[in-house]
Amino acid sequence: MTKIHTCHPRDLPEIEPLDMLVVAPHPDDAELGMGGTIAKMVDEGMRVGILDLTTGEPTPNGSEEIRRAETVKATEILNVSWRANAGLINRKLEATLEARQLIASYFRMTRPRWIFAPYWNDAHPDHVAATALIEAARFWAKLSKTDMPGERFHPERMYYYFCIHLRLAIEPAWIVDISEHWQRKQASIEAYHSQFVVGRPTEPISMLDRLHADAIHWGTLIARHYGEPFATKEPLAMNSLRDLI
Ligand SMILES: [Zn+2]
Repeated sequence: MTKIHTCHPRDLPEIEPLDMLVVAPHPDDAELGMGGTIAKMVDEGMRVGILDLTTGEPTPNGSEEIRRAETVKATEILNVSWRANAGLINRKLEATLEARQLIASYFRMTRPRWIFAPYWNDAHPDHVAATALIEAARFWAKLSKTDMPGERFHPERMYYYFCIHLRLAIEPAWIVDISEHWQRKQASIEAYHSQFVVGRPTEPISMLDRLHADAIHWGTLIARHYGEPFATKEPLAMNSLRDLI
């Protein structure tokens, strides 16, 4: 069974550096925001990790135990090989110095080339705090002469996925074609039964219907079946135009 690491980053088993690390305020945000892209990159042989900042609990129909089991199931569906929970407190997430040092330590221990964070404009205070925290930790990870574990390290790029609670007319920087991976994204979201099935309206238009419609919408904009949008603050750097579609 997939292990969700909950130890301090200094005690993490040593791993090959990750290609990308998706950092999520709550277990399910990574799946909601970019589950299709995660599955796609895993299938293409990339080393993908997910770091959940909090347990996401309490929620109306969940518990820490239920949510942990659901997270394991979702992780297995996406076939992600590394996942950890930083143990910060749900509903009380703040970009404190202490939290910055903790998350920077994860970056030093997993050494991802790219970090993915929640989009910066949101109504959920945990999400806004998470973005600020991740940005600060990215910078902090490269500091020398600290008591953080691991070697100094600076993730090359930082990008943003959309898992927002504002009704924003978002303008993504790019959209990934997830047509071949939509089913797995959907299954990974449904794995969070306590969040998206129990107590939710099942008749149209359910939350899952809306997520489906969103994926079709983003796919339509790039003339594909399903898509997933992303944002960036820094310009995109490309080796060639080959992967543009
Ligand atoms: Zn969330």
